[in-house]
Amino acid sequence: MAELICLDCGKMYSSNELRWKCDCGGLLDLIFQLKFDPSKINSAAHGMWRYRDAIPIDADQNILSFREGFTPLLPLQLEEGLLHVKQDHLFPSGSYKDRGASVLISKAKEIGVNRVVEDSSGNAGCAIAAYCALGGIACDIYVPASTSAGKLAQIQLYGANLHLIPGSRQDTSTAVLEASEKTYYASHSWNPFFFHGTKTFAYELWEQLSWKAPDTVILPAGNGTLLLGAALGFSELAASGCIDRLPRIIAVQSQHCAPLAAAFDNGADTPAVVDVQDTLAEGIAITNPIRGKQIIQAVSQSGGLFITVSEDEITAALLEVSHKGHYIEPTAAATIAGAKKYLNHHSRSGEVIASVFTGHGLKSTEKLLKLASEH
Ligand SMILES: *Cc1c(COP(=O)(O)O)cnc(C)c1O
Ligand SMILES: [Zn+2]
Repeated sequence: MAELICLDCGKMYSSNELRWKCDCGGLLDLIFQLKFDPSKINSAAHGMWRYRDAIPIDADQNILSFREGFTPLLPLQLEEGLLHVKQDHLFPSGSYKDRGASVLISKAKEIGVNRVVEDSSGNAGCAIAAYCALGGIACDIYVPASTSAGKLAQIQLYGANLHLIPGSRQDTSTAVLEASEKTYYASHSWNPFFFHGTKTFAYELWEQLSWKAPDTVILPAGNGTLLLGAALGFSELAASGCIDRLPRIIAVQSQHCAPLAAAFDNGADTPAVVDVQDTLAEGIAITNPIRGKQIIQAVSQSGGLFITVSEDEITAALLEVSHKGHYIEPTAAATIAGAKKYLNHHSRSGEVIASVFTGHGLKSTEKLLKLASEH
């Protein structure tokens, strides 16, 4: 059984404790020494659970799954060049957060949790609520009052108790802290099991690119739940001898909320204090990402960089992919806007570049109706 370790003081805990942070307040990661054996891939299991051996759930009977994952990898020809795009907007709850929620809520079930709390800018709340519905686990979701209506409807219809918090995303995080004193905090940013779900993004890419890692992967960075999961997955594949080098990680932030890009550009290793403004990319508008240091480290160690995108660039990317028949939410378009910039300024010929559609357009009807009427 894997153990939890504090990133600040090194204290260890059993992963079967109902615990989401260290007694010292530090972040926990999982110690999970994995030697992944590709011959153990269960191709009969169509989705992400085909990598069952790589996922730290002890007993199969605790697995909560909608047969999600193994999302199609699509060649996408943009004005600036070719991208290989994982269609993670096609998950059951409409975003890649299902990767993390499937593993995290399975673990919650395994350790006997019957009620969880979670805070989110929307999609993580949708995903946690969906898997709690599947597992018969009660669930309270805290979101900013400004969250897209589509996401609010989804959370409520899955049967979760929805708490609308006035103010910023940070105010929502503060509001959930009191609740997390008494109830298991199924946090997608604190809880390391979430990242052992999002890491399947890397495994799938590797399998779909005929057992090779891409040269470069372009991912969003708010709390970094996909970015850090992908970095974890690629490092496990490298440690298991499945790939011989790690892809470069390019992290995309909105210019209106870019504490990590600012830190990276100044050579700092923790998130910068920045002015923030409203952005179309509501899902990555994170002022103080708690795993910020890990995100900056993962990007630097991979030889990657940060790219910021403006509201106009997000809109242009959204319109371009929509006109090709892909319906994604504005937050997802921010990553594609970053990919367009990368292709324009940084890419080399022959470089294999992967990216992702993180969330479905149907979640953001109001914002997209507004854009449709303006363009
Ligand atoms: C959660 C999310 C992201 C990125 O998430 P972080 O974990 O904050 O980096 C990107 N796009 C969509 C649609 C999301 O829901
Ligand atoms: Zn500690």
